[in-house]
Amino acid sequence: CGIVGVLGNHEVAPILVEALKRLEYRGYDSAGIATVNDGHLDRRRAVGKLINLSDKLVHEPLRGKSGIGHTRWATHGAPNEGNAHPHKAGPVAVVHNGIIENFGRLRDELQAAGFTPETQTDTETVALMAQMFMDGGMKPVEAAFAAIDRLEGAFALAFLFDGEQDLIVAARKGSPLAIGWGDGEMFVGSDAFALAPMTDRVTYLEEGDRAVVTRKGADIFDARGHLVSRASVRIEDND
Ligand code: GLU
Repeated sequence: CGIVGVLGNHEVAPILVEALKRLEYRGYDSAGIATVNDGHLDRRRAVGKLINLSDKLVHEPLRGKSGIGHTRWATHGAPNEGNAHPHKAGPVAVVHNGIIENFGRLRDELQAAGFTPETQTDTETVALMAQMFMDGGMKPVEAAFAAIDRLEGAFALAFLFDGEQDLIVAARKGSPLAIGWGDGEMFVGSDAFALAPMTDRVTYLEEGDRAVVTRKGADIFDARGHLVSRASVRIEDND
C-alpha cells in the first residue's frame, strides 16, 4: 500500500518509520522495514499499527543507513507477520504495492527450479525471481530488471540487496512511485507526501520506468531499457 526507501547519512530505521506514518492515512494491516548494515540485509515486520513495529525495533533494533519500508494492505495472503513486507529471498528484499497478476505461473516456475515460497503473497515471487537470477550469476540491478520484465499486473516496487549499501532498484507500472533528491542522500516513495520532510525535489517515475538509485542520484530507464531523463518538480511540506 505504501512504499518508502532511503539511502541516507543517518540511522535509517526511525526515518523509515516516520515516513511510513505519513502513509498511514491510506490504511494498512501490517508494516515492516529492511536495512543494510555493514553489508548485511535484515528486516523487522509487525502486524497492526506502526507502533507495533516501533516497539519491536526498540527490542530488536535494526541499524544501517540504507533501507526500505512498507505499509501493507493485503491482497494475496492473510494479513500476518509472515506475509508482511519486506519480503526476503536470499540476498534480495522487496516491498511492493499492487498485484502481480501472473504470480501463480511464476511460482510454478520457481518451484520447478527448486525454490520454495514461504508465504502466500504475490510479492514473494518477485524476491524469489530476483534471487534465482542472482544465483544464476546476474548482478543485483540486472537480476531485479530481469525479474521486473517477467511481471504482469500493477505494481510499484523497491528492491534492497545484501552487500549493497548504496543501491535501491525501483520500478513503476500502474502504481505511483517517486524518487526524491537530497544532498548526498536519495529517497523513494509511493507518495511525495511521505518524502516531503526529507526533500523538496522529486521525480515521478512514468509508466514502465525502472530506476537505479544510489546516493549520487538516479538513473532512470524506460520500459524498453533506454536511459531517459525525467523532470523533477518542487514539492512543499504542507503538514
Ligand atoms: N499484493 C501485495 C500483498 O498482498 C501488496 C499489497 C499492497 O499494495 O499493500 O502483499
